Amino acid sequence: MRARRDELAEGLAAVEERIERACRDAGRSRAEVHLIVVTKFFPRSDLDLLADLGVTDIGENREQEASEKLADGGTPPGMRAHFIGQLQSKKAGAVSRWADVVHSVDRPKIIGALERGAHTAGRELTTLIQVDLDPDPAEHRGGAQPVDVPALADQIAASASLRLGGLMAVAPLGGDPDEAFARLAVVAQRLRADHPQADWVSAGMSGDLEAAVRHGATHLRVGTAILGVRPSQR
Ligand SMILES: *Cc1c(COP(=O)(O)O)cnc(C)c1O
Repeated sequence: MRARRDELAEGLAAVEERIERACRDAGRSRAEVHLIVVTKFFPRSDLDLLADLGVTDIGENREQEASEKLADGGTPPGMRAHFIGQLQSKKAGAVSRWADVVHSVDRPKIIGALERGAHTAGRELTTLIQVDLDPDPAEHRGGAQPVDVPALADQIAASASLRLGGLMAVAPLGGDPDEAFARLAVVAQRLRADHPQADWVSAGMSGDLEAAVRHGATHLRVGTAILGVRPSQR
């Protein structure tokens, strides 16, 4: 365990250095950028070590895996749990029992299901709209088209148990992340014109966090650079 704790501490320190440098280069304050450590495929023991190392936000992308990991003892004290994976409406009720933030909302049916789940659980869910930045429709990996964002935002804002947080996106595979995140920044600016409090921009992963910081990301989702290569990728 000692060795794993040291590994995680080193990963966190290296990523912290990258974030600080990216903020400096972009003329932004480090305090504007939040780190979500993506723990999918890694065991519960890593979450406890990360909590001990001061991590306040973790991200999971599969409902069943996360429910199992968080069932035993719940989310570590002081930590917020983010759901970042593609969401089916039949899983929305389960997600709203453990997630504090859902990043991947892209259609009206999911919003209705999350609202019912959060209401039943007596919780408030911060909800982000995932924007599809991929110009190739064949590569579709979830996300709403930018033109559909205003209607989804209004529906979330009108839901009693949901708080509209802002936007989330993944840069297209093999594309230029700067170009993609610049387009996301335009969608985010339009959203803030209608909903000034919806100021979260969740963008940037291990490979492209610097580009995301340059284009206004407020929440980075970083896995591999902190925890190492995921077991399923080895
Ligand atoms: C897995 C995942 C990440 C983290 O990716 P890394 O490249 O390991 O940093 C970020 N966002 C989403 C939506 C993911 O599924």
